[in-house]
Order: sequence, then C-alpha cells, then structure tokens
Amino acid sequence: MADFRADLHCHSTCSDGTYTPENLVKLASESGLMGLSITDHDTVEAYSLALPLAQSLGVELISGVEFSTELFGQSVHVLGYCFQVDHPAIQELCQMHMQRREERNLSILEKLKDLGKPLSLEEIIPKEMHHTIGRPHIAQAMIKRGYVETIQEAFKKYIGDGKPAYAKGKTIPIQETLDIIHTAHGKAIMAHPHLIDDNLILRKLLEMNFDGIECYYAKFNKEQNARWIQIAQNKNWLITGGSDFHGNVKPTIPLGASWIDRESFNFLIQK
Ligand code: AMP
Ligand code: ZN
Ligand code: FE
Ligand code: FE
Repeated sequence: MADFRADLHCHSTCSDGTYTPENLVKLASESGLMGLSITDHDTVEAYSLALPLAQSLGVELISGVEFSTELFGQSVHVLGYCFQVDHPAIQELCQMHMQRREERNLSILEKLKDLGKPLSLEEIIPKEMHHTIGRPHIAQAMIKRGYVETIQEAFKKYIGDGKPAYAKGKTIPIQETLDIIHTAHGKAIMAHPHLIDDNLILRKLLEMNFDGIECYYAKFNKEQNARWIQIAQNKNWLITGGSDFHGNVKPTIPLGASWIDRESFNFLIQK
C-alpha cells in the first residue's frame, strides 16, 4: 500500500482557487493523497460541499480555513483545522470577514478609479460560486480589461501591500481569531511562517497559544523544514504542512507539492 500523504493547505473556488471543492477532492484522490484539508481564505463553505465525494473516494477530509489576521500592523495568516464547521463562533467570524472584504474591495476599486483604472464590482465577482472575494479576483479583472498582463504585475504596480491602490481595510486581531478556533474545538496553526520577516513579531507569535506550525510548505527546502520542525518541537506543538495550491492562478505549485505523513496527521486529528 502506498504511503499515507495529506496535503493540508489548498484553496477552492470558494475563495481564490480555480478548482471547485469537489474537483479538489477528485484531484487529491488522483494524486494519491489520502488526507486533505481545504483551507479557503476566511470561509468554511468548501467542507460540506467536498465531504460526500471525499467519503466515497476514501479521502480523509478534515475541516480547514485560512483566516486573515494582523499583529502590530503585519498581516499574519492563521490556519484552523478540525473545528466544528457549523459552530456559531466560526460562522460569525466568516460573516465578519465577508463584510470586511466587501468594504475593502470598494476602497481598492475607488483607488483604482482614481488611478485611471476603473473596474465595476460585477467585474471582480467570478461566475463560479465564490464566498471570499479578494485581491486575486481584482487582479484577474485587471487582466481582462488589459490594464496589466499578469496577476504579479497587478500586485507589483497597484494592489500589493503598500502599492497605490492597496487598501488594508478593517482588520481582525490574531488573538480573537485563535480564541474563536479554540471555541469551535479546532487547532490553530501558524501558516507559512517564513513570511513573517520581523523577528519581534515572530517572537510574539511564538508566545501565543497556537497549536502548531506549518513546517512543510511547497517553497521550503530541507533546511527550512528542519528549522520550523525544531521550533515546533521545542514548543511541543503540532507539525503540519501543505502546498497552498491555488490551481491555475499559481500554476507552478501542484496539489500535493507539500504534505504530512500519517503520524503528524493523527496528532492533528486527535482530540
Ligand atoms: P487578500 O486576501 O485579498 O489580501 O489577497 C491575498 C492573496 O493574494 C494571497 O492569499 C495570495 O494568494 C495572493 N497574493 C498575494 N500577493 C501576491 C503577489 N505578489 N502575486 C500574486 N498573488 C499574490
Ligand atoms: Zn490565496
Ligand atoms: Fe496564506
Ligand atoms: Fe493559502
């Protein structure tokens, strides 16, 4: 029997991925993955859509989400796993994010208009069912209009952090996010820790009540894996990992590019 592999970080059409939740499960199964978590930005809608197919294909699907938070003005992504999907605290937080994003998207569109690159709200909402609309959707609309050629160019020139059409919008504090994941009986994991380039912020994060660190990530080499595993082990925290697969919008990273084994998966799912 093939070795167990679980990819615990990917995005569906419920946020800024290009595969539907069902097609992600299908792709996972075809790729030989036996465990999967769909971690959309600020929405948990994918889980119930993907679960029936996961069960019939024998893919162990665990609930997942990637919440946008902030600490000392720096954006920090928090992964949540194994929480109760229909818990009111989780549903309420997702609702808050939806509203935050609606307001923020309008601010970004306002700035783009001032820069002579107008877009309507309709243009940034894709045809497929999406619950979370973010900057990648705005970037794609900019390409369609011929304002830029690539998503990267849109971020670099206009909507990336600190660029002329960037709007931060309202933010949701990290501690509140950790508390909500825990209230819903889930585990809170520090996502792609290498993106935290400020040592003070990293130190503060390591003092918080996370349950684990994403130690395996598609762009990591062995030394990076080892560094984060060491840090997680020192804290007696969980080790997780995943590809951060987005489908065709990040075509160089396949589903399963990063994964964890049965042992780490079992530690994560145990109560
Ligand atoms: P948002 O959640 O609306 O702030 O958008 C952030 C998302 O945009 C991230 O999850 C990435 O998937 C994507 N993103 C961020 N920076 C870039 C970039 N420079 N090029 C392409 N995609 C990016
Ligand atoms: Zn994304
Ligand atoms: Fe992220
Ligand atoms: Fe992600």
